[in-house]
Amino acid sequence: MTAADSCGILYVVATPIGNLDDLSDRARKTLCEVDVIAAEDTRHTGKLLQTIGCNTPSISLHQHNEQQRTAEMLQRLHSGANIALVSDAGTPLISDPGFNLVRELLQHGVRVIPIPGACAAIAALSVAGLPTDRFVFEGFLPTKSGKRRDHLSSLSHESRTMVFYEAPHRIEETLNDLLQVFGDHRNAVICRELTKLYETSYYGTLAELNALAGTDADMSRGEIVIVVAGCEVQEVTTTTLAAEHVLDVLLKELPASKAAKLAAHICNADRAQLYDLAVKRKGAVD
Ligand code: SAM
Repeated sequence: MTAADSCGILYVVATPIGNLDDLSDRARKTLCEVDVIAAEDTRHTGKLLQTIGCNTPSISLHQHNEQQRTAEMLQRLHSGANIALVSDAGTPLISDPGFNLVRELLQHGVRVIPIPGACAAIAALSVAGLPTDRFVFEGFLPTKSGKRRDHLSSLSHESRTMVFYEAPHRIEETLNDLLQVFGDHRNAVICRELTKLYETSYYGTLAELNALAGTDADMSRGEIVIVVAGCEVQEVTTTTLAAEHVLDVLLKELPASKAAKLAAHICNADRAQLYDLAVKRKGAVD
């Protein structure tokens, strides 16, 4: 038997994002059979383990102790222990801890096996009615408005469907930023409380969803995924992209007309088009 044969396995186990029936039989079996469970929050996972009658001991693994725990877990795995990694909900590593652990263990030749299951981003995409052949997971946006708008501006030419996680108390301001950057007519979906009692999906253009957010208090309650259609595929030349980037930088210091004039001059681009864009963007980069 080689050292690799005697080494334990790390199972990356997805847990439900609300509805406990979404825990797969394989996940249940794995959690009950491993030697230890590394959990983002042991108290939170303790409730799930109690519900499924699982007595496996757990240790914490969160963003503040991941490095230290990794060394410890490597030792346990090398001595033959099998470990399951779980987060509070959904798939570990997806806007959750675990990436550093998995990367490090792979570098040390440890076998890592996924036990797939719920993931809020994928659940939202599956009901959004927006193209799913290509999509981009953006996770959580920056919490400060300026940085959020800058980041969204960098996605203004993204033609793939975009998936964002957002905290409920920020949904109104984020929807407003999405509208400023992507425009009134872009289709989007807000999926809240997926798999739970008050699950609701709101479909519409960004203008419609913004209006609804102002009148429907439920929209900013619970856990939320925002799915936004990508832009219409168009010929985006390198010159256009460069000119838009220069324009965004100049708009931070100058009024729209001056910024458009300079950006057009620097990049040899169309001044009128850049001016139209500058007027639209002025709100987005201030
Ligand atoms: N690892 C998780 C996954 O696989 O989806 C995501 C963890 S991340 C810390 C938590 C965020 O996921 C929430 O703020 C929300 O944006 C989204 N989320 C989690 N559960 C959800 C649910 N039931 N409905 C809608 N969004 C959810």
